[in-house]
Amino acid sequence: MDGCIFCKIIKGEIPCQKIYEDDKALAFLDISPVNKGHALVVPKKHSMDLLEADDKELSAIISACKKVANACMKGLKADGISLDVSTKPAAGQVVMHTHFHIIPRWKDDGLKHWPRKSLLAEEMKKVQEAIKNSL
Ligand code: AMP
Ligand code: ZN
Repeated sequence: MDGCIFCKIIKGEIPCQKIYEDDKALAFLDISPVNKGHALVVPKKHSMDLLEADDKELSAIISACKKVANACMKGLKADGISLDVSTKPAAGQVVMHTHFHIIPRWKDDGLKHWPRKSLLAEEMKKVQEAIKNSL
């Protein structure tokens, strides 16, 4: 995909700090980490985002995520892992090539979980129906 920064990394046109590679996936360190060891796992085949990615590519990516996450637990002595996939600009996606963020976590690392909202029972029911009816 012309102009896609992650496609350029996959082709070796832009350097990266590679962690893991197989025939479908590449994992490398995020240039601007949220925490030590923050890595990105990307499919080698370009797709814009999670919703457009091929299911077979995604299952390979999930396996790669698990490998990298386990390596972060072991190699960095992380206490946990946050897995984030921002999908579409409204959700914060900046690079339009499907990617999974693997963020190693430590107790008291200062990262906060998202604030919660409370919805009325009636609203919850409507939301449930709207999603179920769109499957
Ligand atoms: P997102 O906001 O979910 O689209 O995340 C894009 C991520 O790509 C950000 O966390 C950036 O720091 C990261 N990023 C952008 N360019 C590079 C690069 N050349 N090498 C490594 N990570 C990058
Ligand atoms: Zn791409």
